[in-house]
Amino acid sequence: MNSRDLRADFPILSRTVGPGAGKPLVYLDNAATTQKPRRVIETVDRFYQHENANIHRGVHYLSMNATDAYDRARERIATAIGAPDPAEVIFVRGTTEAINLVASSFAGDRFAAGDEIVLTVMEHHANIVPWQLLAERKGLVLKWVDVTDSGEIDLDAFRAEFSGRTKLAVFAQVSNALGTINPAREMVAIAREFGAAVLIDGAQGVPHGAVDVTELGADFYAFSGHKVVGPDGIGVLWGRRELLDSMPPYQGGGDMIERVTKEGSTFRHSPERFEAGTPNISGAIGLGAAFDYLGEIGWETIEVSERDLLEYATARLREIDGIRILGPADTGSKVAVISFTMDSAHPHDIGTILDTEGIAIRAGHHCAQPLMDRFQVAGTARASFAFYNSRDDVDRLLDGIHKVKHFFG
Ligand code: PMP
Repeated sequence: MNSRDLRADFPILSRTVGPGAGKPLVYLDNAATTQKPRRVIETVDRFYQHENANIHRGVHYLSMNATDAYDRARERIATAIGAPDPAEVIFVRGTTEAINLVASSFAGDRFAAGDEIVLTVMEHHANIVPWQLLAERKGLVLKWVDVTDSGEIDLDAFRAEFSGRTKLAVFAQVSNALGTINPAREMVAIAREFGAAVLIDGAQGVPHGAVDVTELGADFYAFSGHKVVGPDGIGVLWGRRELLDSMPPYQGGGDMIERVTKEGSTFRHSPERFEAGTPNISGAIGLGAAFDYLGEIGWETIEVSERDLLEYATARLREIDGIRILGPADTGSKVAVISFTMDSAHPHDIGTILDTEGIAIRAGHHCAQPLMDRFQVAGTARASFAFYNSRDDVDRLLDGIHKVKHFFG
C-alpha cells in the first residue's frame, strides 16, 4: 500500500475546511488526535446498529456476543503491545485516567511522606498534575530531570535524581511537544538499579511504532485510543499482573466485585477490579479494530512513511530564515513531530494564518508548560504527522509558512 491508498481509508481527509467552498484539509495535528479509518468508524457503527447490549451481566444472545467482542478486543490489544496476559490490559478513558489510576491505587496506597518520584520536565501535564496532587496529599517529593538544549534526556542527569528514597519513575516514551524518542529501556534499567517502579506514558509512543511492553520492562504503560486511529474515550493501562492484583480498586461499583454484603465487599482480580461500571464497550471494540487496521498496514510501512515526511519537512523548514526547530537536531532521535517558532510571528498567528489555508496545526504550550519554561518560550507551533499524510501536505504547509512570513515580514 502507498500513502495515497492509505489516505483514501480516512473519509475526513477528503473534506474541505473554512468559509465558502473552503480549502482542502491538510491535517497536521495528529499528536492531539489522529483521524479515523473507515474500518474503525464502521466497526463502531455496526456495533450500535446491530450488536449493542451491555456486557457481563446478560444471559441473552446480544449481551453474550457483546461480551465476547469486548474480551476479544482486550486480547487483540494485549497481542499488539506484547502483554503476556490479556488480564493485564485494563480499559480506561485514556492516558490521563490510566496515570491517575496508578497514582491513586499504586502510589497512593503504598508511598509515605518523604518518598520520591522522579519525572522529567518534558512530561505532558497528564503525567505531572496527578503526581503533584498526590505529593501534596502525602508529603511526597518530586524530583525533576531537566532536558538538554536539544530537548533530550541525558542519562547521567536522569540517574542523578534517584536516591534510596525513590519509589517511582514516570516518563514519556515520546515527547508530545518535541517528538523526542526517549531511551526508555535504559531509563527503566536505571530506575531498577534503585529498586524504583516505572510508569511509561506511551500516548505518543504507540502511534509511531511497534510497542512491546515486555521488552520495555516497565511496570505500567499507558496510552490513548484516539491517538492511534481508534475512538476517543478509550485507552489502556497495562500493568504487571502481580502488581495489579496487589493494588486496591481505583473506583467502586458494579462488575468489579466478587461479593457485596452490608458489612463490606470483596473484589475481583484485574482487569475487572479496575473497570467499575459499564465501560466504553464500542470504544474498546473500535480500538481492537484500529489495531487490526494498523497490523494490516504494518509498522514498517508506517515508520518508513513517517520518516520520509519528517526528513522532507525538516529539510524544507530549515531552508527558511527565522525558523527555529525545537527538539533533537538528529531526525533519527524523534518521531514525525516538528515544533517550531518564527522570529516574526507568534505561534497563534502562525496557526491562524495556516488555518485560512486549510492547514490544521497546533499552537501553544501543548500541555507541557514546564518544557516551555525550560526553553523560555510561551509556546510553539507544532506540525505532527501520521502515516496518511503526504509530501503534498508538507508542500502546502511550506506554502502557508511563506504566507505567514509575507504577512509578518
Ligand atoms: N501524555 C502525552 C505524552 C500526551 O501527548 C497526551 C495527549 N496529548 C496525554 C498524555 C493525555 O492523553 P489523553 O488526553 O488522551 O488522556
